Amino acid sequence: REAHVARVKLTPEGPEAIVIGLRDLTEQRRSERMRGDFVANASHELRTPLASLLGFIETLQGPARNDPGARDRFLEIMRAQANRMSRLIDDLLSLSRIELKAHVRPRAVVDLTAVVSGVVDALGPLAHERAVEIKVGAGEPPVLVRGDRDELIRVAENLIENAIKYGQSGGRVDVTVSGGTGEEAARLVVRDYGPGVAPEHLPRLTERFYRVDVSDSRDKGGTGLGLALVKHVVQRHGGRLSIDSAAGEGATFTVVLDGAEADGEPLRRVG
Ligand code: ADP
Repeated sequence: REAHVARVKLTPEGPEAIVIGLRDLTEQRRSERMRGDFVANASHELRTPLASLLGFIETLQGPARNDPGARDRFLEIMRAQANRMSRLIDDLLSLSRIELKAHVRPRAVVDLTAVVSGVVDALGPLAHERAVEIKVGAGEPPVLVRGDRDELIRVAENLIENAIKYGQSGGRVDVTVSGGTGEEAARLVVRDYGPGVAPEHLPRLTERFYRVDVSDSRDKGGTGLGLALVKHVVQRHGGRLSIDSAAGEGATFTVVLDGAEADGEPLRRVG
């Protein structure tokens, strides 16, 4: 800790005001180190596909110059690598935009039920590919929350996509939306029946670029930023994210948000 006297005004009777600032240097150093780690990690994540792209370009200009079969194969890999870089940059930008707005609470009225069913529809092809059945538990009336629609879409998207990718292939994913009237909080629960997460990994899951298995995540198109994004959005909404899992027992991700009517005036449905 560092203490410093910020302001002293001397009068004939003695000092008039002393303001002592206490700054927690450990906290400051920790956040500097985290920022440094983040830049290093992000650079590394971008450099890997970039190195691969450069390698293929050199091969195409050299040894594979007159080999149309190799050219087609390499171009396909190059496209996948470029897509990966593009996804990574999109996620980095989203995360930084959300962080810039961290202290502003989004207050639009959002139909969480509609958000979730839109996301489930959009993820239909991925679920189909992994033979996963998504069961949605959301009845009438729709659950309304206060927030930012696009950001809540990202939350539902990341959680449900993870449940499909890391859950059991050929298995089931349960998505439930509940609450949201009067003072009650709204709740989104995403449960899968896959291998789950061992306890030692749980506290770190929402860190940027933290993956239980790096190559598994990359094979599945993951940027390692999804849950960090979810955490920041939920925090900015004044909500809570909890993760329950044990190795071999699937994983349950729960997001609790304020219901749209929680702060006084009742709302009619918008949009
Ligand atoms: P990624 O882009 O790697 O999926 P996330 O931030 O979304 O990044 O998730 C971080 C890590 O958490 C994943 O790499 C995976 O190891 C683990 N994880 C996320 N969701 C689940 C789940 N439903 N079951 C098991 N592990 C999960």
